[in-house]
Amino acid sequence: MKTILITGGAGFIGSHLCELFLKKGERVICLDNFLTGSIENISHLRKYEQFTFIHHDICNYISIDEKVDAILHFASPASPADYQRLPIQTLKVGSIGTHNALGLAKSKKAAFVLASTSEVYGDPLVHPQPESYWGNVNPVGPRGVYDEAKRFAEAMALAYHRYHGLDVKIARIFNTFGPRMRKDDGRAIPNFINQALEGKPLTVFGSGKQTRSVCYIDDMVLGISALLESDLNEPINLGNSCEMTVLELAQMIIELTNSKSTIDFQDLPVDDPRVRQPDTRKAEKLLAWKPQVRIRDGILKSINYFKTLKTAEPLFHI
Ligand code: UDP
Repeated sequence: MKTILITGGAGFIGSHLCELFLKKGERVICLDNFLTGSIENISHLRKYEQFTFIHHDICNYISIDEKVDAILHFASPASPADYQRLPIQTLKVGSIGTHNALGLAKSKKAAFVLASTSEVYGDPLVHPQPESYWGNVNPVGPRGVYDEAKRFAEAMALAYHRYHGLDVKIARIFNTFGPRMRKDDGRAIPNFINQALEGKPLTVFGSGKQTRSVCYIDDMVLGISALLESDLNEPINLGNSCEMTVLELAQMIIELTNSKSTIDFQDLPVDDPRVRQPDTRKAEKLLAWKPQVRIRDGILKSINYFKTLKTAEPLFHI
């Protein structure tokens, strides 16, 4: 049995990773400080004996008293609304938190997967974005706190690989959606679904002609797991290459919720990327991975999740 430590394990992607590795029979140590994650995301994992939760902020030093085979570093606010509300915490977890997580990986001789992001490409001038593109990021804009933190984290992770020989992998994660996103997460899909279910207008920013390529969570965690099992020590794009405009996404959600909601066009946020689509050829070739879930099916599953959101199960002892 392998031991996998997941920082941000009570977050959206982190909690799905915990579940995937527990189902594979591995031991999972989940670290989270609940800044944007929640206990509800992991309370159903209590039934696994090999699951441990540690309430901890990875920006502080931590020692673990057992072997660890892999560290998946997923702690960070990830929604633009969250990281602009939590700019210092975002910069700290990307820098100090990544340093601590790498230090722990080095002491345990563990493999390391960094949750990086398509935001390292900023408002891209190359489309679709291959891993070789260096990006177009405004370091002092409102998104800079996240983009630069992740760019620093990539540089730090590769320095540990080059200098200390650590087995480092970098997942450049493109827009991902699904159950366990918070209702107030602020990103387009949870916003649109909840607005549509409540019969409120869908807040489309700008003209809605900007594009995104969205990937269902079940596909994403399989990509991350394939990356962990690979011997790659370079950035890999993970995402669904199925590109659509934000307006098309809003219209699809109105249709799939059978909602009478209208569209309310609002100002486009500063530095909002105009296009985004992963070039996934590397992942397809080197990881033999490709998203399988159709966007409509993933949206329907997410609608179901938000419909059935109910009060949390009782807390378990931390
Ligand atoms: N967006 C929108 N309405 C919302 C939330 C987001 O139109 O209520 C737009 C946002 O401006 C961006 C796209 O949807 O163009 C995706 O935004 P999201 O916050 O999901 O993530 P991003 O891809 O910008 O990191």
